[in-house]
Amino acid sequence: MPPLVVATREALREALGDTRPGLVPTMGALHTGHCALIERAARENALTVVSIFVNPTQFGDPADLARYPRDLERDIRQAGEAGADMVFAPTVEAVYPPGFDTFVEPGDVALRWEGASRPGHFRGVATVVTILLNLVQPRRAYFGEKDYQQVQVIRRIHHDLALPGDIVACPTIRDPDGLALSSRNARISPTARVQAAAIPRAIAAVQEAAAGGEQIVERLNGIAADMLQTAGLRVDYVAIVDGETLAPLQTLRGKARLLVAAEIDGVRLIDNAPAVACGAG
Ligand code: AMP
Repeated sequence: MPPLVVATREALREALGDTRPGLVPTMGALHTGHCALIERAARENALTVVSIFVNPTQFGDPADLARYPRDLERDIRQAGEAGADMVFAPTVEAVYPPGFDTFVEPGDVALRWEGASRPGHFRGVATVVTILLNLVQPRRAYFGEKDYQQVQVIRRIHHDLALPGDIVACPTIRDPDGLALSSRNARISPTARVQAAAIPRAIAAVQEAAAGGEQIVERLNGIAADMLQTAGLRVDYVAIVDGETLAPLQTLRGKARLLVAAEIDGVRLIDNAPAVACGAG
């Protein structure tokens, strides 16, 4: 059965009643990575809601917002096939009603890495996630570890602001060559797509060096940065950080996370994994 599609706050509340569903927030352009989240939500909840909303407040660059891929009909079909019962596809005005003037400003965990490269990004994410969690009142909300810092920011605001439901972080889904699936991958040329596979290779090389006993973060970061540059990518950052606070580390310790952001063909790609491999990541 195709999912029920609702577009306003009121229609969503009316359709849900007292039901506390599983919620998968997305910006659409759904791919296998999103579908894995939806499938998991459908397994773990009696009712699954997928939100599809390209959130303008998390884009610093209007051109980036304008070229974000949109195909609602296809997304609704895909969400339904993955197990969604309901799609919440609001207009900008439904999420941010006239006069909207309240934002959620996350603290330290949002300042570095993506936060530094994309000023205001996590403020927009934190604000829209707060609105969605309050509106949907989910029992569980599902997010991908692909956006690792985003998950940590959301965990922080969820705890600090006593937002409803549980936050569930799901492993990154990858192409066979290891590149993390992303709606942005569609924008890179076939040649650049081959170069982009240096990202998962660089991550694996760091994990291998760490497994071989290298503990100095500067050296480990250097391994990844060299590999990315050699493959023709422009490195934005390579960092090994505390997996919760995202503070940079000097030497490896438990739960260290490797974060990578690099650009190819004008497309910015991010990835991450445990600095010391432990299976999926
Ligand atoms: P987006 O539409 O890019 O905002 O992503 C919606 C959700 O899907 C976020 O929680 C992302 O972290 C998650 N997601 C995106 N790509 C992947 C992937 N390759 N594997 C797992 N989750 C993902």
